[in-house]
Amino acid sequence: MSFAIYLDDASLSHNPTPGHPERPARFETAVLRLSEPDLKNLPRRTASLAKPEQIKLAHAENYVDFILGAERDDAIIMLDGDTSIGPGSTQAILKAVGAGIDAVDDILSDNITRAFVLARPPGHHAEVDRAMGFCFFNSIAIAAQHARKTHHLKRVAILDFDVHHGNGTQSIFCDEPDVIFASTHQMPLFPGTGAVSERGVGNIWNRPLAPGDTGNDLRTAWEKHLFPAIDEFEPELILVSAGFDAHIRDPLGNIEAEASDFGWITDRIVELANAHASGRIIGFLEGGYDLQGLSESLAAHLTSLTKGL
Ligand SMILES: [Zn+2]
Repeated sequence: MSFAIYLDDASLSHNPTPGHPERPARFETAVLRLSEPDLKNLPRRTASLAKPEQIKLAHAENYVDFILGAERDDAIIMLDGDTSIGPGSTQAILKAVGAGIDAVDDILSDNITRAFVLARPPGHHAEVDRAMGFCFFNSIAIAAQHARKTHHLKRVAILDFDVHHGNGTQSIFCDEPDVIFASTHQMPLFPGTGAVSERGVGNIWNRPLAPGDTGNDLRTAWEKHLFPAIDEFEPELILVSAGFDAHIRDPLGNIEAEASDFGWITDRIVELANAHASGRIIGFLEGGYDLQGLSESLAAHLTSLTKGL
């Protein structure tokens, strides 16, 4: 199969404070779901450690050095109210970024066509020089930069259906016409950005959803407002911030999407990738904090992502 999941047990070594929603059980639940008959044959690869110079493709040099030097053996370092580095966190962070870089390398050397990066912590809130919202380094932004700078792709699309706006990704690429960023997210909700009027240099496409909106509203936002922009952009590679916290069961959002809605969106993304990007897609796990919702939604995403391969 021309597909691989990138995952590494280092994802278990990042342990935020007790009761934190972005917890190791998310990864354990996802891996358990991968062991069921419909997904158990998906090829798996472990992740490389990202190198500082790769992370600096999307982040400020002094910020990268600060994060990489922050870990202490005997303390949890709080970077904001809900984003902390404890013993083992750095390993998890570097593998999460490295997995995305590995996926780009394997896809652009034609080893595989599509991939999923199953890692934590997530990344899409991390800005050029700021950790926030459980995120330290922006894995999807670094992967996009790696595809452009190392593999010389001209046009990369980043699609984000996490219930929270990918403010970090938007801020990293808001002046970059060769990267298109399209997002659905609940508004109002953390981090507060993501209005339709935020257009970057014409490359940013936001479609906020209201609390209580359903899967049909989510589908309509993509179908009517976001997919046409991606289609016109003709990306050579599609990266997806696949957060599953717009699921109806999720405790952090108020959107009422079901697993099948994530499958539907993914089917459409596959069509776009087949039309423009030689089928190439990499999904990145972002949020998703209800374990059942995460498990069902991830399965739907992977089923659609691997269809026909
Ligand atoms: Zn989220």
